[in-house]
Amino acid sequence: MIYGLDVGGTKTEIAIFDRNLNKVDSWRIATPKLNYPLFLSALTDMVLEADRKFDVVGSLGVGMVGVIDSMGRSLSANVPCANGKLIADDLTKLLQRPVAISNDTRCFALSEAAGGAGEGYARMFGAIIGTGAAGGLCVNGELYKSANGIAGEYGHHPIGAHIQQKYKLPILSCGCGLVGCLEKYISGPGLAYLYGFFSEKENATAHECIEAYRKKEPIAIKAFSCYMDILGSSFASLVMDYDPDVIVIGGGISQLDEVLLTLPSAIRPHLFRGVNIPVIVRAKFGDSSGVRGAAILGSQLCN
Ligand SMILES: [Zn+2]
Repeated sequence: MIYGLDVGGTKTEIAIFDRNLNKVDSWRIATPKLNYPLFLSALTDMVLEADRKFDVVGSLGVGMVGVIDSMGRSLSANVPCANGKLIADDLTKLLQRPVAISNDTRCFALSEAAGGAGEGYARMFGAIIGTGAAGGLCVNGELYKSANGIAGEYGHHPIGAHIQQKYKLPILSCGCGLVGCLEKYISGPGLAYLYGFFSEKENATAHECIEAYRKKEPIAIKAFSCYMDILGSSFASLVMDYDPDVIVIGGGISQLDEVLLTLPSAIRPHLFRGVNIPVIVRAKFGDSSGVRGAAILGSQLCN
């Protein structure tokens, strides 16, 4: 059996797969965020329970919210107790088996490269557009591992000056410590922000923006076309950086047909003339892709 653990800022899920990657079981707990020994014992308990249930010692991969640096240290604002900790090393000692760890969006990319919507393409980029905007590159079905573990953070390039000027947008501070990050404009909260900015509505939501856009309300059309312009520019720089054959998109925003259908034409004006735009498809495994990718990562340690 191969296990994946998906550690989020709110919930932690374990999913158990057979050797053919069929999911046979999964369950969730609230993530202990403030006490590291409690955090480790909660994760350990989930794995040992899976061992007991299936009478095996399963392989384990962990997908973790935040950055996992080249040393394997977790840098996560969402799970403060794990900050700076070597989670995989600590779990290896406690569970007496090799444990792999990566960032959750990189796990998403790996899952979609291996049997998902990116299967069969030599170079695929998996991009989440949801609460945040991040992703990862896979080459020949394997995750590209970068020096600092940050390759794929396409949402933390700054917004282009020409776009910021065109729409007279404020330059927003990002939770990562930088300013003007694309994620502040292209994530789900980013779409809500842009709708609020143009409509001057307080507490506007992305859902409201899309509803109004579908009713052809002029301000929503303006907000959505600005949104797509920024998203197109961010995907154009992603193409310049990684030049993939396919981009697999996941996350809440990826579910909108308007986004999937108009993304290639939104990328075009921001890319060199004559450059082919990669195939853009929706993720096959949806919300389960992160935990599935974590499981694949863990199983690769045992091969
Ligand atoms: Zn940022």
